[in-house]
Amino acid sequence: MATGFQPKTLVNSERLWNDLMAIAEITLPEQPYTRRAFTPTFDQGRAWLKEKFLAAGFAVSQDAAGNLIGSIPGTTPGAGTIMLGSHSDTVPNGGRFDGVAGVIAALEIGRVLKEGGHELKHNLEVVDFLGEEPNVYGLSCVGSRGMTGYLSDESLSFTKPGGEKLGEAIKRAGGDPARIANSARSDVKAFFELHIEQGPILESENIQIGLVTAIVGIRRIEITFDGEADHSGTTPMHLRKDAGVALAETIVLIRKTAEDFAGRGKGHFVATVGVVEVSPNAINVVPQTARLIIDARSENVELMEHFLEEVTRIAATAAETYNVECAGPKILSDSVPSICNDKLRTLLRDCADNLGLSTRDLASGAGHDAAFISRIAPAAMVFVPCLRGKSHSPEEWAEPNALAAGANVIAEAIIRLDANESYFANG
Ligand SMILES: [Zn+2]
Repeated sequence: MATGFQPKTLVNSERLWNDLMAIAEITLPEQPYTRRAFTPTFDQGRAWLKEKFLAAGFAVSQDAAGNLIGSIPGTTPGAGTIMLGSHSDTVPNGGRFDGVAGVIAALEIGRVLKEGGHELKHNLEVVDFLGEEPNVYGLSCVGSRGMTGYLSDESLSFTKPGGEKLGEAIKRAGGDPARIANSARSDVKAFFELHIEQGPILESENIQIGLVTAIVGIRRIEITFDGEADHSGTTPMHLRKDAGVALAETIVLIRKTAEDFAGRGKGHFVATVGVVEVSPNAINVVPQTARLIIDARSENVELMEHFLEEVTRIAATAAETYNVECAGPKILSDSVPSICNDKLRTLLRDCADNLGLSTRDLASGAGHDAAFISRIAPAAMVFVPCLRGKSHSPEEWAEPNALAAGANVIAEAIIRLDANESYFANG
C-alpha cells in the first residue's frame, strides 16, 4: 500500500457512543438489555433507528425479508452496492453491544461520509438485519438468510408456541414474505460488519482490531447409549449394562480429542458436550439409556469430518467396554464455515496499519449475519475487543475508542474500495 496515506474520514467517536447508549435505553425495563426481534420493544428500537437514518440523510426502506436499510445512492449508475451493518435485536438479558454496535457504527460511517461530502461511486447501504439471534420461531439470521436466498418456504412456516408463523412475523416487522424467494441480492460488491469479539483473545493480547478469517461451521451431533436398568444394589459390577458410564467416558474423550484438534494448527476448533440425559436418572437404578449432544465448531471442513470419525470410534469403544448398544453419531444440524474475503481483509489491515492500529487475524466462533452475506458477496468482519470477552450478558462492555477505531478502519476501507476497482477483482 502507498505510504504516507492520510485518513480521509474519521468517525465522531462521541456521537457513535451516545447513539449506542441511547438505543440501549430501548429495552424491556425489567430485563435490561432486551430487545427481542418481533416484539414491540424491537419495533421501538427500529423506529428510533429509522429516525436516525433519515436525519443522516439516508433514504430508508425495508426489503422483503424485513431488513431495515438506509441508503446513499452512488454517483455511478450500475456500480453496485457497498453494504455494511449488523443486527439490533438482542438475546434476553443481553448486552448493549452485540449486534447493535455494528449497526450504529455503520450509521456513523454513512453519516460522516455524507457530512464530509465524500460522494461514493457505489451505492452505500447501512443495514439492520432482522432477527439475527435465535427466536421463538426457531431460526437465527432471519434477515440475512432472506436477503441471500436462504430462507426457505419451510422455514417461513416455522411456528411459535401460540400459533404465529415466521412468515407472518416477518410481515408484521415490515417485510413481504411472498417476495423473499425472488429477492436475493446480486448487486452487493462488498460487505463489512463490525462486531464485538464476544471472546477474550483481543483483550488478552492487547490488540485493537480483529480481522476475521472465517465464521465457524457448527455441527451438532447426538449419541445415545442403550443398556439395561437394573437394581444398583444387587447387580454385580461385571454383569451391568450401564449406559451412564459409557456416556461419561465418551464426554471425557471428546474433550481430549477437541484439545488435540485445537492444537493442530488447522484453525479454530472447539467441541462441547452441553446436553446430557440419563434415564431413569434414579439413585438406585443402573442407567438404562444415556444421551448426549455435542456442539462442535470449526473453520476447517476436513477437521470437522475427521472429528466425526473420532467421535464414532470413541462412542463405539465406550459401548463395547461397558456392554451397551450405541446409536449414532447422528448429525442433528450442520453448517459449513463461511470464509471471509482475503482481499477485503488485506485492505482492512492496510487501513488499520495506516491508522496506527494493531491487528490480528482470528476466526469467529459465533455465528453472524456476515456468514450468510458471504454467500452472495465478498464479506469481511472487524472485531473490536470487549471486556473479559463477556457477551450475551448485561455486563457486556466495549470502550468508546475501541468501537471508533473499528469504525474508522471500515470507513477508510470503503473509501479506498470505492476509488479502486482492482480490489473487487477475483473477489
Ligand atoms: Zn451479534
